[in-house]
Amino acid sequence: MAAIDGLPPLRDVIARHGLDARKALGQNFLLDLNLTQKIARTAGPLEDATVIEVGPGPGGLTRAILSLGAKKVIAIERDSRCLPALAEIADFYPGRLDVIEGDALKTPFEELVAQGPVKIIANLPYNVGTQLLVNWLLPKAWPPFYQSMTLMFQREVGLRIVADADDDHYGRLGVLCGWRTEARMAFDVPPQAFSPPPKVTSSVVHLEPRANPIPCSAADLEKVTMAAFGQRRKMLRQSVKSIGGEALLARAEIDPKRRAETLSVEEFCRLANCL
Ligand code: SAM
Repeated sequence: MAAIDGLPPLRDVIARHGLDARKALGQNFLLDLNLTQKIARTAGPLEDATVIEVGPGPGGLTRAILSLGAKKVIAIERDSRCLPALAEIADFYPGRLDVIEGDALKTPFEELVAQGPVKIIANLPYNVGTQLLVNWLLPKAWPPFYQSMTLMFQREVGLRIVADADDDHYGRLGVLCGWRTEARMAFDVPPQAFSPPPKVTSSVVHLEPRANPIPCSAADLEKVTMAAFGQRRKMLRQSVKSIGGEALLARAEIDPKRRAETLSVEEFCRLANCL
């Protein structure tokens, strides 16, 4: 029986192409096209957009994005075994799917030729997901090359991405995401939705770049968050000792008795700008 988009069911595609999931590549495939459509819909209207997808695998999410009308999908996949399955999707949607075989960590995303707004949508391999997100948050130029990012992570990572001050999950990643984007949790996906099921629940998060983030050097922000959260239970006068201590806090007008997790993104930027 054909799936909802007229292509063969993903389970058949995986069996026919011998795509047994490899742990080293973070392969946990989504087989339910209703779910992959729900993820793609989180990115908003796709009709005018070019979508960049990392790790299409057998193509479940790719098919959803295309079936919802994306003008173009540029997909970067490291596992060459997936290419024949993806070629079938490209044939079904002529001219709308370009597959690049390669490592997303080494892909110059800014240089990919894209028409219309660019939206990044991906069920990311867990071993490289956070690093990819950080790369996208710190591109050469701002505003960045993309209009939004809709990404699946382990729930724990998702909670760190959307965390604000005074939240247990607030840390370096939350400050970086809050500085450059507005990030929100969209929904959770249980382990059983994947083949094979991962050990933990996953979450889809949606991030939109801020047009005017607080002016601040990313390297300095990294320095202050690393020091402050390196000893998150200590008062700031102790945790930021190595980068300026009480004098730095006085310049930034921040009470030295406070702890890292109580500082807003704006206060972290102030600290960075006082280094
Ligand atoms: N998008 C598919 C889905 O939702 O069913 C597969 C998602 S699976 C979690 C992650 C995919 O990323 C796999 O297809 C894997 O081969 C690919 N991958 C892993 N590391 C990669 C890398 N460094 N660059 C590009 N793709 C990678």
